[in-house]
Amino acid sequence: MRLSKRVSIVGSGNNGLRLTDPLDCNVYIVDCGSGLLMIDTGVGIEPSSIVSQIDEDGYKLTDIKWIVLTHAHADHVGGTHFFSSATGAKVYADPHEASVLGNAQLLRDTMCQYVNAGFYPPGYEMKPVICNYELKNNEKVVFGDLTFTCFIAPGHTGGGLCLYSEIDGYKTLFTGDVVFWNGYINLISIFDVDLLRYKNSIERLSALDVDRLYAGHLQPVMSHANEDIEKAMHKFRNFSVPPSIC
Ligand SMILES: [Zn+2]
Repeated sequence: MRLSKRVSIVGSGNNGLRLTDPLDCNVYIVDCGSGLLMIDTGVGIEPSSIVSQIDEDGYKLTDIKWIVLTHAHADHVGGTHFFSSATGAKVYADPHEASVLGNAQLLRDTMCQYVNAGFYPPGYEMKPVICNYELKNNEKVVFGDLTFTCFIAPGHTGGGLCLYSEIDGYKTLFTGDVVFWNGYINLISIFDVDLLRYKNSIERLSALDVDRLYAGHLQPVMSHANEDIEKAMHKFRNFSVPPSIC
């Protein structure tokens, strides 16, 4: 589904627009001129439904040149093997999340907990992912004719990559699971979660001028998105905790 000339949402599960597999996060495609950037890859249970969305928006799967993973949770990265082998795209993540993605034992143990709790179906596995490039905080990365500023925003996880750029005339922020529509955050009780680091991350993001907020769940925000981020910051500033999406 096109969000603007250059940005599409091609995956979204029950905690979003229900376009594809119920467990998929929001998956975005950005047309960078000489190739497509994919942001997150969904849970990997039914990647063909994401491929159908890519087709429907007039894009070619094989034009995906870059895959950015916002963080190492299965609903965001489970489709990475499928999409990187189908396209030959290079995979990017921040250093902390890249180290989690490469740690087979940690992924097995964590997935075991999630499967036992019923978040993922029995037998669901998350295979380690090798990242080709590690993106640092404040780094500027160029994909085709677009330049993105990287912000690493820990709290929901130990890393957590946000990408910021002006696209189609809109100051656009992709946030993964850091902050969402209406000032929601994603506070879960599992390893790597840190509330005070979360507060610092939201403070840094709230200083940005943002028109459009494209997060990993819930609906995309199409205007005045700094108000949504400010809503989360307002809670933190008052020593409270913003509402969590789960
Ligand atoms: Zn997450």
